[in-house]
Amino acid sequence: MRPEDLQKLLNEMLGTKGGAAPPPRQVKREEEKPKEPFDFRFVPRQIKEYLDRFVIRQDEAKKVLSVALCDHYHHAQLARDGKALPNYSKQNILLLGPTGVGKTYLVRSLARLVGVPFVKADATKFTETGYVGGDVEDLVRELHRLADGDMERACFGIVYLDEIDKIASSSGTRVRDVSGRGVQTNLLRLMEDADVPVRSQQDIAGQFQMMMNPGGSDAPQHINTRHILFIVSGAFQGLEEIIRKRLDESTVGFASARTGNRGGDETKGSRWLDRVETPDLLSYGFEPEFIGRLPVRVACRSLDEEDLHAILKSSEGSIIRQYQADFRAYGIEMEYDDDALRRIAARAVAEETGARGLMTICERIFRNYKFELSGSTVTRLSVTGDLVEDPDAHLGALLGQDEDPLLRDIRRNIESFVVEFREQHGIDLRFSAEALLRLQQLCRGTCLSRFCREHFRDYQFGLRLIAQNTGRTSYELDLACVERPSERLSQWVVASYRDSRPEEGKSRGSG
Ligand code: ADP
Repeated sequence: MRPEDLQKLLNEMLGTKGGAAPPPRQVKREEEKPKEPFDFRFVPRQIKEYLDRFVIRQDEAKKVLSVALCDHYHHAQLARDGKALPNYSKQNILLLGPTGVGKTYLVRSLARLVGVPFVKADATKFTETGYVGGDVEDLVRELHRLADGDMERACFGIVYLDEIDKIASSSGTRVRDVSGRGVQTNLLRLMEDADVPVRSQQDIAGQFQMMMNPGGSDAPQHINTRHILFIVSGAFQGLEEIIRKRLDESTVGFASARTGNRGGDETKGSRWLDRVETPDLLSYGFEPEFIGRLPVRVACRSLDEEDLHAILKSSEGSIIRQYQADFRAYGIEMEYDDDALRRIAARAVAEETGARGLMTICERIFRNYKFELSGSTVTRLSVTGDLVEDPDAHLGALLGQDEDPLLRDIRRNIESFVVEFREQHGIDLRFSAEALLRLQQLCRGTCLSRFCREHFRDYQFGLRLIAQNTGRTSYELDLACVERPSERLSQWVVASYRDSRPEEGKSRGSG
């Protein structure tokens, strides 16, 4: 068997079994030309402005992260150019705060802005395997893979470790204490300065490739972790108790300033986390060396109902936008009124999982909508407070299930007129039940859509005029519209001039 064939076989074997082996494409990518050199040219304010587009609140965390990030990459670039400051110590970051408040989101957004690879893992994972070093090293290798083999970018990547609080070795409320210390030591080594081989010991294909081609382009490569930014985070339950106690002991009269609530109220808890200091983290169960490598510490706040509403409404990453895009793919325009957003936010707060609650609630509300509406005649979904309260009833109504079969038939017959009107004029028409029944009588068995085109022939001009005056693009045509189409339209047009006049007056006045 030729070496290439054996290599192929090994790759296939490892590829199908998953495992720690890199996908075969990595082998090819390493040979690709390096990408453009890494160039970091931000100031903290620009970074914060970028974060503001996605992450709501967390201003303190945004500022601290922006500064730490700039410092880190400025230094990394100096080092690359051989101008590193001697004894510079890396600014790894500790992010504290409850779940679902944007910690990961902040870091992921930072990595995207800077253009470096980002990997996230739970620190708890490392204790379970027992073989700690290997796992953490895999994260570093993953950076290399995500950077498409671009070694420079891999070395400037960001490793994010969540649930770091779970590797505190301590008695009391926290469960892990056996391996916590070991994990901290291993992490410490990586956070500091370690060389991680691009190929793991488990990567048989890679090892074999090196054997077959010693000294070639596949010579052992290492990713140095000196400039990889490590950000660790956790909810740190119980830490606020420790902080409070320290503050109580150190400040006479401080107790009078604190709230009476000693329970686990997250809002109040995360306020205390702002004041964390090294001794608190040591009492919590971290090794001094480990904490010493995390000089930048900042807490993220819990999010209240207003914040969740703001996330839905204005974050560029809002779940609402995702749903809109999902529905648009089925040809359905989705719009929300503010009442709907407020109700979703209110229900998400009750989940007590921060902004994650928004996803849970939206999933619950729209569970059946995507399936049922895709491929139906529905092209617009208006999400109102009522819909949020009773999604299934609204879905049924949208699909016409609760409608009188006669009305449903008429509506179906008129559908092509309605769709055409929307496509040509950007205006949505709906019909009241009486209007439909009357139209059915008037058309005397001829094609209803054709009848409507004729019957409402002035409406395209009239309604477009109203849209220009008032911006309104959706109308319900009632019985009066059917019986006296022109008269009704004139009334609407006149009213639209009346409604738009104050605006005109204003612009004339100012012009
Ligand atoms: P954690 O704090 O547990 O790391 P994440 O950052 O993973 O939470 O938040 C989960 C999701 O919730 C994010 O992907 C984002 O969509 C949304 N989210 C959380 N916090 C915010 C926030 N402050 N602003 C905007 N979106 C947020």
